[in-house]
Amino acid sequence: AATMVATMAACGNAEKTSEKESAGGGDTAGALIGITMPTRSSERWIHDGDNLKSQLEGLGYKVDLQYAENDIPTQTQQLDSQITKGAKVLIIASIDGEAITTQLENAKTAGIKVIAYDRLIRKSPNVDYYATFDNFKVGVQQATSLLTGLGVLDATGNKVADKKGPFNVELFAGSPDDNNATFFFNGAKSILDPYIADGTLVVKSGQKDFETVATLRWDPETAQKRMENILTSTYKDGSKVQGVLSPYDGISIGILSALKSGGYGTGSQAYPIVTGQDAELASVKSIMKGEQYSTIFKDTRNLAKATGEMADAILKGQTPKTNNTTDYNNGVKVVPSQLLESLIVTKDNYEKELVATGYFTADQLK
Ligand code: BGC
Repeated sequence: AATMVATMAACGNAEKTSEKESAGGGDTAGALIGITMPTRSSERWIHDGDNLKSQLEGLGYKVDLQYAENDIPTQTQQLDSQITKGAKVLIIASIDGEAITTQLENAKTAGIKVIAYDRLIRKSPNVDYYATFDNFKVGVQQATSLLTGLGVLDATGNKVADKKGPFNVELFAGSPDDNNATFFFNGAKSILDPYIADGTLVVKSGQKDFETVATLRWDPETAQKRMENILTSTYKDGSKVQGVLSPYDGISIGILSALKSGGYGTGSQAYPIVTGQDAELASVKSIMKGEQYSTIFKDTRNLAKATGEMADAILKGQTPKTNNTTDYNNGVKVVPSQLLESLIVTKDNYEKELVATGYFTADQLK
């Protein structure tokens, strides 16, 4: 029998053995799952981490949850350590979508499965699944709410009969190393471009392309400075900005601070229509006060649930549920994805969408 085993191994059964030890084939009940999140500086990632952890612990797994405060070497070390600790699945919300290739190679060698969480991991074959929201649609929703706020579209998203404008608008995008940022911006531009072309919207600074309007690491201060510079150059003639496309609530807060210093939000000078994303507490409060106009609510509870189910399926040797196998090419392969739906939140529906659903308590919003 010993000879037979040896022969079988030589004939390629070694592969079978290692497969058995890897995620999905062996006894994976109670296995360790590594979660790496980009930063605690944005509330959404705290919700994501907490929800994922409790979801996975509820399924009986051990969880190692790490935050890297937007520092790439910290995130790579956290992944190294999770691989060493014997994690069977890694759930990664990357800081820079291309900076963890070596870690992913090591994960592959160790038979660890990888789920890209919210942000696509790029330029690596070693990404098994992707769980996220429909990122292009998020951008469409941001632009739609900008146009609704300006009165170009009505509440149902249809064009109003009489021609509006011209409105001065400025555009902001997210971090260029985050794959989502391009999807959000392209989604938004798909809606805004016809209105820019027909003169309804005027990007007065002339700053329109992604590279020019991107905000490294989604940093609120960087956005604030850029808005200040635009106000003191483009708008020094006394003209007013009427709309700002902002891709993320933290950036919206930076933009609103710059606007406030520039005299908006006082007396008769109303704030422009400013969009956002993530329904972060400070921005929801700002929306309630009539400062920020809208945000895009991505229910992180649903994303945690979908991702937890993915990890669980992988560890049980099943095929996880996905609903998109075309849109997320990471430069090496199309990563099978599960896309969730987001929605526009304004003063009109925050109670229904955020309070009644228990995302925030009424007390938190006081
Ligand atoms: C996420 C957004 C978030 C942004 C900044 C993106 O990858 O999809 O929800 O606003 O990062 O944290």
